[in-house]
Amino acid sequence: MTTNAKLLARRTKAIPRGVSTATPIFAARAENARLWDAEGREYIDFAGGIAVLNTGHRHPKVIAAVRAQLDCFTHTAFQVCAYEPYIELAEKLNARAPIAGEARTILFTTGAEAVENAVKIARAATGRSGVICFSGAFHGRTALTMAMTGKVAPYKNQFGPSSADVFHVPFPASRYSVDVETSLLVLDHVLRADIGPDRVAAIVLEPVQGEGGFHQAPLELMRALRKLCDTYGIVLIADEVQSGFARTGKLFAMEHYDVHADLITMAKSLAGGFPLSGVVGRADIMDRVDPGGLGGTYGGSPIGCAAALAVLDVIETEDLCARAEALGARAKARLKEIQTRNDMAPIDDIRGLGSMIAFDLITERGGAAPDGAAAKRTTVRALEEGLILLSCGVSGETIRLLYPLTIEDDLFDQGLLRLETALKLQA
Ligand code: PMP
Repeated sequence: MTTNAKLLARRTKAIPRGVSTATPIFAARAENARLWDAEGREYIDFAGGIAVLNTGHRHPKVIAAVRAQLDCFTHTAFQVCAYEPYIELAEKLNARAPIAGEARTILFTTGAEAVENAVKIARAATGRSGVICFSGAFHGRTALTMAMTGKVAPYKNQFGPSSADVFHVPFPASRYSVDVETSLLVLDHVLRADIGPDRVAAIVLEPVQGEGGFHQAPLELMRALRKLCDTYGIVLIADEVQSGFARTGKLFAMEHYDVHADLITMAKSLAGGFPLSGVVGRADIMDRVDPGGLGGTYGGSPIGCAAALAVLDVIETEDLCARAEALGARAKARLKEIQTRNDMAPIDDIRGLGSMIAFDLITERGGAAPDGAAAKRTTVRALEEGLILLSCGVSGETIRLLYPLTIEDDLFDQGLLRLETALKLQA
């Protein structure tokens, strides 16, 4: 029988160091919120393949839809011969996304590709080049999205000159002592010192930062950005690659705001484990790119579209938005209880919308200094307990919960219990 150790040795020889893996285990099989490794050990999955599995591993409806599509055709390239599942998915997303007026959807494969294309669309629509993003943001690893990502190590420091005309403004988060006022002050400064508003194509932000630590963009920030974009004809892009598809208790996190983005990027849980991404946005902006300017060989794969149609159906029929709220409330209550206990590692700032829940490890109870090493220890101990758990945040101090929203109640409780054990101080 193969073992995790044997596979690790093969991986080390065959695959470069640049792609890192959060756990030393190798997947053999998975079902809803359970995953079995190469040695047959069972884990509860609170990582969901980094926010991809809101509908769980191998949801029966998703698998059935993919099987049916496999029996018809698997690929034509939408640019060669189009197909109905793509159109149907676009129609559904246009109807459901919080976009003002008529909407259009274009599909791609990865999150970074969706973000890159949203910027291309904004540049074509405005005839401008500038892009303003936020510190702590994660938008991808391709050349442009790497430039847009607001964290130097490990994403940018080895890769040469950044893409031109990309600027960063601090994202408001109390952990980093940045409030909305400061954020907007720096934005104003950037618009005076670096690039005039008449040269800015887009402002891009995650309504809830993913890799940055599950910090939510405050309502006043979103309203101020909307106003600025309206004043200067700038395209407001919400990157919902991580926050989308019921995770926050709404289909799109932008539904928590009373203002709209012009374009929304989506990926991850859109297709329940199959690679699919897209941009949904205002028709008058989306239609500004000339034919042939957008696309990609695999963009909007029929397999991905079939999976995504099933995902949307599951989200609705299983009421996963309400489920996200209910599970999130339970997780938060449990974490609040843990926070009060002296036998637990000090945690703080339990936060989150719906089931996009996170908390920080801090160096001492009542203090504020982030403790990335303690978060790392927590994920390692969680794995020993049989729980797959991810960290994030600027100093790696944040633990984020991304369990499938379809997780069974008793398994969810078991997962929380394992999390509690991982947080227990050792003598
Ligand atoms: N945007 C956000 C908000 C993300 O969380 C991610 C992935 N973590 C991306 C973009 C990039 O997606 P991908 O890795 O599929 O390119």
